[in-house]
Amino acid sequence: RIAYVNGRYLPIGAPAVPVEDRGLQFADGIYEVVKVLNGRFCDLDRHLARLERSLAALSIPMPMSRAALAAVMRETLRRNALSTAIVYVQINRGVAPRNHLFPEDVEPSLVVTVRRASLPKPRELAEGVRVITLPDQRWKRCDVKSVSLLANVLAKQKGAEAGCREVWLYDADGLVTEGSSSNAWIVDRDGRLITRPLGPEILGGITRSVILELAQTAGLEVVERPFSVEEAKAAREAFLTSTSSLVLPVTSIDGQPVANGVPGSITLELLARYRNHLQMPE
Ligand code: PLP
Repeated sequence: RIAYVNGRYLPIGAPAVPVEDRGLQFADGIYEVVKVLNGRFCDLDRHLARLERSLAALSIPMPMSRAALAAVMRETLRRNALSTAIVYVQINRGVAPRNHLFPEDVEPSLVVTVRRASLPKPRELAEGVRVITLPDQRWKRCDVKSVSLLANVLAKQKGAEAGCREVWLYDADGLVTEGSSSNAWIVDRDGRLITRPLGPEILGGITRSVILELAQTAGLEVVERPFSVEEAKAAREAFLTSTSSLVLPVTSIDGQPVANGVPGSITLELLARYRNHLQMPE
């Protein structure tokens, strides 16, 4: 595998990141994850817009123009000879002797890697996945796609140890914020689609934004409001969305089946519409 690291294309294992990169010392950086299907970047403009927003929130300049960054992503993809892939982009504030204050006159570091996409398996889509819920222990700017992911890592690990694909995090009021690496959705008893509104408590998922538009087109009633863990357990349907999970049915929450424990019809309808949006065959 080949990685792009600060202007060079190198074998992924090459020692290429300086020890004093602020990404290593402070997790002072942001990232993006973009899906590639059959050589086509999915929703690339939305991902690059979010990347610019994340950088602006941390006062890190773009390391190059949007078009140049897209060209680097395409070239890294090409060098890895994959057509269905996940492209990972990370931008850190730069390299400087360790000091909390922003260093002066640094250039942001840029790393791009590519790996094979691990999309949900047909069985996961057909049967749904289990989640557990845990308190959200993350910082108060989850709208920034920061590489500071320790709380997400710890939650995901606990979930895996409990045999679960994802963990739904809840705030001090018992309201679900989102998953450790996905957005959370339910369908209520009246068939309304419910997901938490954008705000500092959640990452504005690209998949979330696409699904909201597809739901509108489908004529579904959508309510962007917080929902509680209890409400989720009593919901008619539940699912999660992310770049690599697509629209993934959630059929069990904290060991309790959601409705009758099989993926719901609205979830499957949205999955079908999302696949169509991606021009992705069944
Ligand atoms: N929320 C969190 C915390 C994430 O890490 C992710 C993506 O990995 C998402 C939501 C979903 O975002 P997207 O649909 O852009 O992949």
